[in-house]
Amino acid sequence: MPTEFITGLLFLLLPVAAASGWIAGRKKYLKSSTSYVDEVAPEYYKGLRYLINEQPDKAIEVFLRLLEVDKDTVEVHLALGNLFRRRGEVDRAIRIHQNLIARPVLSNEQRAQSLLELGVDYLRSGLLDRAEDFFRGLLDTTYRTRAARYLVEIYEAEMDWDKAMECARIWLHDDTENLNRRIAHYYCHKAEEKFGENDLKTVRQFLKQALKQDPDSVHVSLLEGRLEMEEENYRAAIRAFRRIEKQNPEFIGEVLNDMKRCYRELDRTQDFLEYLHQLPSSETGVNHVIEMSDLIQENEGVESAIRFLVGRIEQLPSAKMLDRLVDLSLLTEDDHHRSKLKCFKRLTEKLVEVGTTYKCNYCGYNARKLYWQCPGCKHWDTVKPVRGTTSE
Ligand SMILES: [Zn+2]
Repeated sequence: MPTEFITGLLFLLLPVAAASGWIAGRKKYLKSSTSYVDEVAPEYYKGLRYLINEQPDKAIEVFLRLLEVDKDTVEVHLALGNLFRRRGEVDRAIRIHQNLIARPVLSNEQRAQSLLELGVDYLRSGLLDRAEDFFRGLLDTTYRTRAARYLVEIYEAEMDWDKAMECARIWLHDDTENLNRRIAHYYCHKAEEKFGENDLKTVRQFLKQALKQDPDSVHVSLLEGRLEMEEENYRAAIRAFRRIEKQNPEFIGEVLNDMKRCYRELDRTQDFLEYLHQLPSSETGVNHVIEMSDLIQENEGVESAIRFLVGRIEQLPSAKMLDRLVDLSLLTEDDHHRSKLKCFKRLTEKLVEVGTTYKCNYCGYNARKLYWQCPGCKHWDTVKPVRGTTSE
């Protein structure tokens, strides 16, 4: 058992023994022939001995017996339970919190707090249904906001967007901006589900709702563009995609391929090339440069595309660009050079394959695809495309 844990417990339990046990005991037994200290101290040390000898279950038994639950020791029981939960020993935390709520002396406030902690224990041990019941039961108590916050966590994990919406409104009732952004994502996820079922009419309805919640949402613009594309409204699709440039240029690289298709369908490839030229590539990333090199290749030939790419690689070296440069060079070289280039190609392919494409700004989670909610820390809008030599 790590020393810092034992130190933590000692700090936690010393005042308990002193304040709640011994002092209360002294008052209670002041005139008694047997000293309460004599009764309690050996038990207390026994508990500590169990802890030090890495027998936490026995230690818990002793401490639970020692610290009779009353109004003064509830906080300590809660703290002890939370300490075990933080260490990942959820079963022990559950035992302590269950022991607490079984006591009739608790005030309503203390009971609600203990139920909340027990709910968190179940949540952390993955028993979502049981945790949900506890939190639901707290929605009409003073712990309403905190219970709703945990319910949001559960419903987001279960992708139950309607229930997540209902609870987010309770949790974030005084943080409208955060609430609206989150609810816009929920509507987008509902729209994505309907996309999967090819129910495009409902997709449009959900996206409209999402836009109402958050007119600056990149998620909405991206899905709206794809919906319009699906319905062959290429002009509307381009309008939706181009909103992203103003909303957050970091994400424009996500839609350039789709935009290229729209411009092509409208027979306006030249307009797309002009659009790409005016985008600041320092912000928009490597996809932007690659799309440009593809169009230059189509319009002006391979040599021009190679010249363009070499210029860009000098400004912003990247594995993906190098890989594309090798592809283009393979088209122009003779057999002798081609075999050397193929070796090089194997390396650049590998570099692109292992590179991180997206990263959470909050917890550092690395991903190969774009997540609107980080799978690591569960924050929304923290995963961003990564710029840099190997990542791109
Ligand atoms: Zn994260």
